[in-house]
Amino acid sequence: MKHIIIGGVAGGATAAARIRRADEFAEIILLEKGKHISYANCGLPYYIGDVINDRDNLFVQTPESFSNRFNVDVRVEHEVIKISPESKSITIRTSDGIEYAEEYDKLLLSPGASPVIPPIKGITEDGIFVLRNVVDTDKIKSYIRNTEIKKAAVIGAGFIGLEMAENLHHIGAQVSIIEMESQVMSPVDFSIASQVHEHLSQKGVKLYLNNTVVAFERKQEGVKIIFKNGQHIEADIVILSIGVRPETKLAVDANLKIGETRGIWVDEHLQTSEKDIYAVGDAIEYPHPITGKPWLNYLANPANRQGRIVADNMVFGNKIKYEGAIGTSIAKVFDITVGSTGLASKRLRQMGIEYESSTTHSGSHAGYYPNSLPVSFKITFNPKTGQLFGAQGVGFDGIDKRIDQVALLIKNNGTIYDLLKIEHTYAPPFSSAKDPIAIAGYVAQNIINGTMPVIKWRDVRDADSDKVLLLDVRTPDEYELGTILNAINIPLDELRNRLGELPTNKTIYVFCAVGLRGYLALKILKANKFDKVYNLSGGYKTYSSAITPIKEPSPIAHDKHITHPYRDAENKETLHIDACGLQCPGPIIKLKKAIDDIAEGERILISSTDAGFSRDAEAWCNTTGNIFINKDTEQGKYNVLIEKGSATSNTTDVCTSTSKGKTFIVFSDDLDKVLASFVLANGAAATGEKVTMFFTFWGLNAIKKEKKQKVKKDIFGKMFSMMLPKHSKKLKLSKMNMGGMGSKMMRFIMNTNGVDSLEQMRTQAIEQGVEFIACQMSMDVMGVKKEELLDNVTIGGVATYMDRANSANVNLFV
Ligand SMILES: Cc1cc2nc3c(=O)[nH]c(=O)nc-3n(C[C@H](O)[C@H](O)[C@H](O)COP(=O)(O)OP(=O)(O)OC[C@H]3O[C@@H](n4cnc5c(N)ncnc54)[C@H](O)[C@@H]3O)c2cc1C
Repeated sequence: MKHIIIGGVAGGATAAARIRRADEFAEIILLEKGKHISYANCGLPYYIGDVINDRDNLFVQTPESFSNRFNVDVRVEHEVIKISPESKSITIRTSDGIEYAEEYDKLLLSPGASPVIPPIKGITEDGIFVLRNVVDTDKIKSYIRNTEIKKAAVIGAGFIGLEMAENLHHIGAQVSIIEMESQVMSPVDFSIASQVHEHLSQKGVKLYLNNTVVAFERKQEGVKIIFKNGQHIEADIVILSIGVRPETKLAVDANLKIGETRGIWVDEHLQTSEKDIYAVGDAIEYPHPITGKPWLNYLANPANRQGRIVADNMVFGNKIKYEGAIGTSIAKVFDITVGSTGLASKRLRQMGIEYESSTTHSGSHAGYYPNSLPVSFKITFNPKTGQLFGAQGVGFDGIDKRIDQVALLIKNNGTIYDLLKIEHTYAPPFSSAKDPIAIAGYVAQNIINGTMPVIKWRDVRDADSDKVLLLDVRTPDEYELGTILNAINIPLDELRNRLGELPTNKTIYVFCAVGLRGYLALKILKANKFDKVYNLSGGYKTYSSAITPIKEPSPIAHDKHITHPYRDAENKETLHIDACGLQCPGPIIKLKKAIDDIAEGERILISSTDAGFSRDAEAWCNTTGNIFINKDTEQGKYNVLIEKGSATSNTTDVCTSTSKGKTFIVFSDDLDKVLASFVLANGAAATGEKVTMFFTFWGLNAIKKEKKQKVKKDIFGKMFSMMLPKHSKKLKLSKMNMGGMGSKMMRFIMNTNGVDSLEQMRTQAIEQGVEFIACQMSMDVMGVKKEELLDNVTIGGVATYMDRANSANVNLFV
């Protein structure tokens, strides 16, 4: 029997080796158009980042060693250019241009996928690369060796893009990631991805989400990357990681059936529409085991597994069926791991499949054993039967084993009840007696049997305050550090005695930090005849990470770590506090106690594993008069250095020459004045400064949503609504408005002169991280509801503005 295999890496090499094991006497020819076979393409980003130092380690086999071991005729630099099914032959072209034919009994296609390179102006310029194979890797390596790489840009935030971002950061580059979607890592839901966004910012990576690249320009000093919104950035190297598409040219030319998703169609035995021709790997489409719909899945594990199955079918006849892959993937993103399997909520929504989800936050192992690190899991399931649809996890440790466990259950049609039955290994350094996966199962069980009705972070964000009461059952300390707008605080332990404070005619959305206290509060409320009570899935932790705008990357991310046990860089006495493993507000409470015990001018270096800790500590310092000196992060720990200040120092703090922020009080809603405010704000933000715009009185009209929102208003609110401009497009000029003619002329002239409209400038400001604060008092007076304002707006009072103004050196009233 003569077997020919096209493609010598994951699927192809696996199949060749397996065919030999199945038939010692078969003739096997492995054809590979590149120079290398059986190499570790998954390791390429790490070789570029100098994590893998020895290039030879990338090669699992050389053509010679593979040939010797498996008695396979390996022909590298031999490209198959045509398949002729009728004569069961193929045409091959060598790198020297010689063409010849070979006949086969059985043929296997494992040609992989090719990178998408869209027709963007300047995309072929020097300094712009794709990464798919060893040749690409060598080109990138050589460019890096010969060019000083200070800034790098990665276009596309899939897992290879993120791995490249980390590795370019590792070689010392300031990295930007540009992604057209609103999140990184498309297989996971936004609430999980938002934790990755936060971590990337902490590591100094600049994220440009919702941004499309429209052109590249090669400059003397690097590549200019131009976005659709007119913004641009510069980089010394650009990596395109926009995606791949199945390599189907040979199959198309040979009239093999191509499927709905444009992959090579195969049956359950991995045979194509042509007898004796099989296909595996990135090039094929196959029905998804849950949806039954064909899909493409570019992962190494399925390619290897298919290679093994197909080999048996080629040798012994079509006996083994392939069950399909559900898409189980994982990536290391700096210190954290993101993993997913099966279908996320957004995919289920798109496909119209009824589902429920649950988000839980736990510790990677027992909290009392050192270095327990936070892990978050989201599972999706059938709300009636409990059938598991998917799982996603993000955290510092133990994500892989848990995602793998759920993947196996999903592939065996498991349910959330099976999560409870997993008998897992346990000792304090590894897990808890109740593993995070079991906790996810218990919570899902409570949701399904109606014990704990849940709402999601989006429901809370969109809640109508006239109908819904938000009840925060955390401690007053936690509440002080940040809560959901309009939420009232009744700590869980006081709830039974304060039930009288709760309205009986409203739905209650109850929440705590991660969901457990919220569940207990829900039980108390239900027992006391409050019918419409829901617990926020994943608690405030999920909500706040999903709605918090992406922060400017931490400027110290490339600096040396500050963790010196007893003295810091300025040689000051420093007390080291370990608050690792404690959930909010534990670290802050520990910090407060420690600060109380030291003298003014002394310092504390506190380490926490709570991802929100450094932000909380900064806010805490601002309000307590202590001085936030520095922060860094390493291996899941957030270290913050704080100097004890005088109790009044926060109130006497004045603008210093080192203050750099800018604040704008936007009081007027005259079109020209609002335009001027946004021009200045965008200009300041572009220089990397922190910019806050505080919208008060008439200025609120500049940040209203264009679509009318259904909100309940009293008579005065309704009157104001009628009299005020409905949204920014209705603003008038301060002079020469001429019944609206003037503002229309202004917009027309701006458009013809290529000047961005007010709305475009506003979007740019949001994208640049300009903070929008709406004045609570003005909103109350003018009957403006938060639902009417843009989603990115936060609500604050004069204290919030003063806090920003204190750390700014320009404060303008427009
Ligand atoms: C940088 C990078 C990192 C990755 N990291 C991961 C990871 O961490 N985890 C994971 O699961 N997956 C990862 N993948 C994806 C994984 O490598 C692929 O899913 C897997 O290799 C697909 O196997 P395949 O056999 O279909 O194709 P490939 O392994 O890509 O092999 C296809 C081969 O066919 C050859 N070929 C194509 N056409 C012809 C022709 N006409 N004649 C002769 N030869 C031909 C090509 O030159 C190529 O060498 C990564 C991929 C890349 C590029």
